Amino acid sequence: MSDNPWERALSQLRSAASHLELSAGLIARLEKPDNILEVSVPVEMDDGRTETFHGYRIQHNNIRGPYKGGLRFHPKVDMDEVKALSLWMTIKNAVIDVPFGGGKGGITVDPKKLSEGELERLTRNFTREISSAIGPEVDVLAPDVNTNAKVMGWIRDEYSKLVGEDSPAVVTGKAVAEGGIQGRTEATGLGGFHVLSEVMKLTGRTHRGATVSIQGFGNVGSFLAEYLKGSGFRIVALSDSKGGLYIASGIPDLKTVAQCKEQSGRLAGCYCVGSVCDLSNMEVLGGRDISPDEALTLPVDIAVPAALENAITKENAERVQASIVLEMANGPTTSEADSILNKKGVLVIPDVLANSGGVAVSYFEWHQNMHEQEWSRDDVLKKLREKMEEASRTVYTTSEEYVVTPREAAYIVALKRLSE
Ligand code: NAD
Repeated sequence: MSDNPWERALSQLRSAASHLELSAGLIARLEKPDNILEVSVPVEMDDGRTETFHGYRIQHNNIRGPYKGGLRFHPKVDMDEVKALSLWMTIKNAVIDVPFGGGKGGITVDPKKLSEGELERLTRNFTREISSAIGPEVDVLAPDVNTNAKVMGWIRDEYSKLVGEDSPAVVTGKAVAEGGIQGRTEATGLGGFHVLSEVMKLTGRTHRGATVSIQGFGNVGSFLAEYLKGSGFRIVALSDSKGGLYIASGIPDLKTVAQCKEQSGRLAGCYCVGSVCDLSNMEVLGGRDISPDEALTLPVDIAVPAALENAITKENAERVQASIVLEMANGPTTSEADSILNKKGVLVIPDVLANSGGVAVSYFEWHQNMHEQEWSRDDVLKKLREKMEEASRTVYTTSEEYVVTPREAAYIVALKRLSE
């Protein structure tokens, strides 16, 4: 089977559809995105040269509402990746039951090699290229890998100038001062925490002292780690693209690690007591550096891929020792790896459920903008928890009813809602 994410997304869709009697028309429609935009984006660089970047916006499906999905800046962005991510958004929005369809965007770029001015020009020029196809009631963008509230602010500003009126609801994940919503930054990590807690409760597992390793210490991984630790889980390993750290007794101070990463740009070697980050402190605690991928195969109860696609493959799936894999990244497990994990009896909590907290709060933000409301942080966090727990229960009971994996169950829940 293929590691191509689009092929995988199609095979997940067809496998779940085989359990239902759906119209052939619906499946045929979901097998193809509604619209594919592929654009060239010329950008004037700081040294006066013009460089042209490649960008995509894929509008997968809008049966349930406006297209909705993130924008990713990464050197490996390509058409099939963005298509897969857009289909997963259609499924995710139906699983979490928000009135959005699925979309996704990406620009093939290493944003770390661009100045802030170059990034802003790239974002604004891309917005102009796709402006006729987006809008608050048509297609709403959000942050994803390497994009954030600042990037969303540039998109909103550029789009608003083009349409001649302020349109905050064309993006979600904005800064709170600019029409964003309280709680959006931490929503995906916090949502994953609620899903994991609910699934553990439903399957009769205890989380006190359960050990966790997390691959990817960005927005999603860092907030998830904080919430898990606060609730009694033991975070023993973290990694980013350059390396990571493992302390079997648990990483006592996540904030210091986060500060160290911010200062040094990398996690490896980042365990500090006081203000000095050095390896000797790790040795005292029995810790060691690990490779980025090693976080997924350590002896832990819960392994969390929270970085990119294809993190668990047929090469490392046999070595996964965790009894639960919580998929916080989109598409982190290849089809072959998924079969291996299922045969080993690993409970895989699928991405379309686990990481849907971000889009749940994006929906609250969009609703707030469209109705000129201001939601309190307490309201947002309460509603998020309710949504995540309800979706977890629905997926779990569907997996029991159809005797299928939680991934197939999530797709079944989504397909039933889409067919309605
Ligand atoms: P981010 O850019 O903030 O962080 C990504 C992290 O992954 C970084 O720490 C990076 O160093 C690390 N990384 C990259 N390659 C790695 C590798 N090979 N091994 C270990 N670490 C690696 O991105 P994010 O917003 O945290 O998104 C992470 C994942 O979660 C993505 O798959 C994204 O699509 C998904 N997701 C994000 C949101 C959201 O609200 N941000 C919502 C749903 C899903």
